[in-house]
Amino acid sequence: MQTILPAQAQVIIIGGGIIGCSAAYHLTQLGWTDVLLLERQQLTSGTTWHAAGLVPQLRATHNMTVLAKYTGELYRRLETETGQSTGFRQNGSLIVATTEARLTELKRSASMGRYFGIDVETLSPAEAGKLWPLLNTRDVVGGIYVPTDGQANPADTTQALAKGARMRGARIVEQVEVTAIHTRCGRVTGVSTTRGDVQAEYVVNCAGMWAHAVGRMCGVHVPLHAAEHFYIVTDEMAGISLELPTLRDPDGYTYYKPESGRLLVGAFEPVAKPWGMQGIPDDFCFGQLPEDWEHFEPVMEKALHRLPSLEHTGIQLFFNGPESFTPDDRYLLGEAPNLKNFFVAAGFNSVGIQSAGGAGMVLAEWIVNGLPPHGHL
Ligand SMILES: Cc1cc2nc3c(=O)[nH]c(=O)nc-3n(C[C@H](O)[C@H](O)[C@H](O)COP(=O)(O)OP(=O)(O)OC[C@H]3O[C@@H](n4cnc5c(N)ncnc54)[C@H](O)[C@@H]3O)c2cc1C
Repeated sequence: MQTILPAQAQVIIIGGGIIGCSAAYHLTQLGWTDVLLLERQQLTSGTTWHAAGLVPQLRATHNMTVLAKYTGELYRRLETETGQSTGFRQNGSLIVATTEARLTELKRSASMGRYFGIDVETLSPAEAGKLWPLLNTRDVVGGIYVPTDGQANPADTTQALAKGARMRGARIVEQVEVTAIHTRCGRVTGVSTTRGDVQAEYVVNCAGMWAHAVGRMCGVHVPLHAAEHFYIVTDEMAGISLELPTLRDPDGYTYYKPESGRLLVGAFEPVAKPWGMQGIPDDFCFGQLPEDWEHFEPVMEKALHRLPSLEHTGIQLFFNGPESFTPDDRYLLGEAPNLKNFFVAAGFNSVGIQSAGGAGMVLAEWIVNGLPPHGHL
């Protein structure tokens, strides 16, 4: 049976990925319960379902670090609060540097983290090797270790945020597409959907890589572009256990997430592969893109150098899924400058899981109080 939509809601959220669900969670936490989240397909079916699930805290800017730290704290308590498992584990993270310049950058990031109360240890190459015994440390000049970093199951965490929002009164409706956004005198007034019109005081664009197209419905430019994003998952591998911290090697463009006995090896390759130049298909749902070994090979070589035992390990899965990226690597968060009460939270540059808690919290406070929380302007 189809849910009948209300004629009006105080806030309409477009998109049921982790960002939209976090916005609903935090709005209801602040007491705004007349929240309607509309998802065209199913919750998590866009980008969220296939994320690797790393939840580190150190980011390039103060704001992003504070919001990532809050996200980790939220995920730690979310399962107890909602009864929905999140898969969150605080197994720490290790980042290694192979150049002095990178080490300086890591040390700066460590200082910033400590300023915000994040425990960060600076490590010698030998100490890094002790923490990750399979690591080739021959060219490593140092590293940092963040014991409170973690990893989560992105789909389960999204369901937990949605459950928390529903428990406080939010309505979350799947299989409803927003087809138009209505405005009057420079202010948003509601939406049209495949199940009729709904008036609203506020509309929030959390449509992930579709956020550009959704913004165009009301003349709001959302500058992001999708790119193919890759990881592999190995067969069972000796020496890999859930007790290991996640590992990042930015000079080698790779990150590593231990799964039970297997290893996820992901990439931030230096030359990205754009996707969806003619627009993102409306029916892309739990979708995957074709394998591209030629593109992944240079990264795989770096991974084989960093973890030589990968050479003797089979590959269980090659995953390629799209994610949206912005020109300056910062996500887009806040009220549209040219349309009152229309907010955007999109373009998460592959840090949407680790940023969702903080982004949802800031967005909710911004909507409720008319200003972002102190320090996030
Ligand atoms: C391979 C890969 C690995 C990743 N690993 C990590 C990681 O380890 N850590 C991390 O922090 N991040 C990671 N990410 C990034 C993370 O997955 C994303 O940043 C995050 O999921 C974005 O969430 P979202 O809610 O903005 O978008 P989405 O999950 O795409 O949600 C947007 C939703 O909007 C809906 N929608 C669109 N248009 C409409 C409409 N008109 N009406 C109604 N609904 C609409 C869509 O159906 C979709 O469900 C990874 C991404 C990829 C691709």
